[in-house]
Amino acid sequence: MITLSTRWESVRGSAIRDLLTLTARPDVLSLAGGLPGTDLLPRERIAEAAAVALAEPTSVQYGETAGLAGLRDVLAAHESQRCGRPIPSDRVVVTSGSQQALDLLARVLLDPGDVVVVEDPAYVGALQVFQAAGAALHPLPLDGDGMRVDVLAERLAVGLRPRLVHTVSSFHNPRGVTMAAPRRRELAALADRYGFLVVEDDPYGLLAFDGAPAVPVAAYGDRVVRLGSASKILAPALRVGWLTGPAQVCAAVERLKQCADLCTSSLTQSITTELLCDTAWFDAHLHRVRAATAARARTFTSAVAELLPQVTCSTPTGGMFCWLDFPEGTDTTALLPRALEHGVGFVPGSAFAVDAPLPTAARCCFASLPDADVREAVQRLADAVVA
Ligand code: PMP
Repeated sequence: MITLSTRWESVRGSAIRDLLTLTARPDVLSLAGGLPGTDLLPRERIAEAAAVALAEPTSVQYGETAGLAGLRDVLAAHESQRCGRPIPSDRVVVTSGSQQALDLLARVLLDPGDVVVVEDPAYVGALQVFQAAGAALHPLPLDGDGMRVDVLAERLAVGLRPRLVHTVSSFHNPRGVTMAAPRRRELAALADRYGFLVVEDDPYGLLAFDGAPAVPVAAYGDRVVRLGSASKILAPALRVGWLTGPAQVCAAVERLKQCADLCTSSLTQSITTELLCDTAWFDAHLHRVRAATAARARTFTSAVAELLPQVTCSTPTGGMFCWLDFPEGTDTTALLPRALEHGVGFVPGSAFAVDAPLPTAARCCFASLPDADVREAVQRLADAVVA
């Protein structure tokens, strides 16, 4: 018998990551994972960038813990442009995916029992990180305009004192919604008034179908740590993410990253730098990804309207996810094995639930499959519903 830490015991396994094994079967069309379309990942351009990077001997060496200087510079320039104010390079810490940024942040900011406000439904990877840190989760509802910041304000007024408020501000995972600008402003103001930090987890912001990303929450205040990622705009396998935030937070995260993994891969950081600095290529690439993903979203929503008319389906304006609501009495967790038998995967709403159980909901990722397979996946789902 081996005794594991009590903190570890409180971490719920990710139903989604477990599902990936089932949905990887060749006979299954997966709407389950949050995977960008493999066909849209720029492998040839990455190969060229890798060749350029490898010509430099330091590309296969250890690098600075906070990230390669060239990458921090280009990320600082991107973030400054998005936030409309200068963000210096020393306020950027490069991480091994933005998932590591979440984990390091939770570990430097939270003591066991600290209150963390999360959206309900929530990004499962964030829930796991906060559970591992021993946090007390406080769920907040979402609507079509994102987090109900008005409900947060009411609860703060009657004594709620969170250490952190986590939000996926644009193209929410799993709900697909984007926080409206007045709510962003209000959230940043509440952070100042009550002294908590906002974690603005934003891997999808640049995937706005109209090409106009929302102004970040971080543009409205200083008590915001912003997380970004190369995963959805370049490729997940680069495992390059980053955070920007107050100097004290950056310094603490950098020190903990020394313990976690010394540094993120110099090779993939060099590749990422090369790709982001080639602005003509990067802009054209983003345009292509956005257009292809928007087409997949349209195919998905029109197939749902036609083949599953009893189901309510969100209207995506960016990102990768559509939120389905089946009629009262449906249990999407029970539907999943039938769907897999019919050759389609999705994630039941219960996987993202913090408080409300969400038995009738499902998250579908429309971005992973080529257009022609998207309709077939919905057809299989419709067949599973009537089976
Ligand atoms: N935040 C959110 C909201 C996500 O959906 C994901 C991945 N799906 C991540 C963070 C982590 O992504 P990565 O580590 O690849 O940057």
